[in-house]
Amino acid sequence: MNEISLKQATDTLTRADRVFVCTHVEPDGDALGSLLSLGSLLRKMGKQVTLACQDPVPENLRFLPGSGDIRRPDGVDADAFDLACSIDASDLGRIGSAARVFSACPRRLAIDHHASNTRFGLENYVDSTVASSGNLVCRLFGETGVRMDENDALLLYAALSTDTGNFSFGQMDEEFFLQMAGLMHAGLDISPAARQLHLIKSPYHIKLLGRAIASLRFFSGGRQAGMRLTHADFEKTGAKPEHAEGIVNRALNIYGVEMCYLASEEEDGVKFNLRAVPPHDVSRIAVEFGGGGHLLASGFTSRKPLNDAVRALRARMEAELGRE
Ligand code: 5GP
Ligand code: MN
Repeated sequence: MNEISLKQATDTLTRADRVFVCTHVEPDGDALGSLLSLGSLLRKMGKQVTLACQDPVPENLRFLPGSGDIRRPDGVDADAFDLACSIDASDLGRIGSAARVFSACPRRLAIDHHASNTRFGLENYVDSTVASSGNLVCRLFGETGVRMDENDALLLYAALSTDTGNFSFGQMDEEFFLQMAGLMHAGLDISPAARQLHLIKSPYHIKLLGRAIASLRFFSGGRQAGMRLTHADFEKTGAKPEHAEGIVNRALNIYGVEMCYLASEEEDGVKFNLRAVPPHDVSRIAVEFGGGGHLLASGFTSRKPLNDAVRALRARMEAELGRE
């Protein structure tokens, strides 16, 4: 439960020799960009590093340098490390099967930027005023004085641009853009990276998007929008859950919509992506349903059948909108 500063986090990393670094399940550009750049920083500091994630790297992020080195936690010897470090995960459950190794380490550091972070490390470097976990890794580069190379810059650009929707929302302040300038200084080739990360979509994504849009409904007088993807939608398009990334934003970016959801039938339940515009707070709703996230972007998984799960969430959102 110990809250620590940037300097203390740097000291903890400096003192370690063998470090296990993990991130959250269903990793996105911030999770992987932060994991890989933190791994690179630690290696440049002379540490032995093992990078792990429960779920595989999605196809669209396999171009990130070093992504082939990320292991599944299952085969990892839990006694092999003197420090475990989790990055971009708000709670222990979010690192999935990496929790076994994380929890076995004598020193456990959580680095994160989620407002709903539970301080599950023995030491916690958590700052919810930054847009992405990548911003915290940028600070660690600065504090350690380690030189950032082109690959680090690409990884950190993936992190910073993913969690801000390619620089359109989130906590983008002066420090954020000074860090971006640092990435450019380190040799970031931004246009091809932007195309890879934000413009090109897989055909599976586009097919799923068509089905999600076909399911779009409005509630609360047009202030709430909802979409759904069923098992049949995934089967008929051949798409995987990772191909649904970003679809929920299409419902938010409609005139009059203040709050929206995408409900997707997945193997272990119905996955909800929630989005809102200020002054709303969907993280509180997500926490009530067993999940978490940020004020404006959160999620949870429901074990109820699709219709029941959607009905419950819709009623909760209606209550929220009715409260003003
Ligand atoms: P997305 O909708 O893009 O998957 O997730 C938006 C945000 O909500 C992310 O920051 C993610 O970490 C968080 N989030 C999504 N699903 C869950 C969940 O089931 N539990 C928790 N704690 N956070 C989630
Ligand atoms: Mn993040």
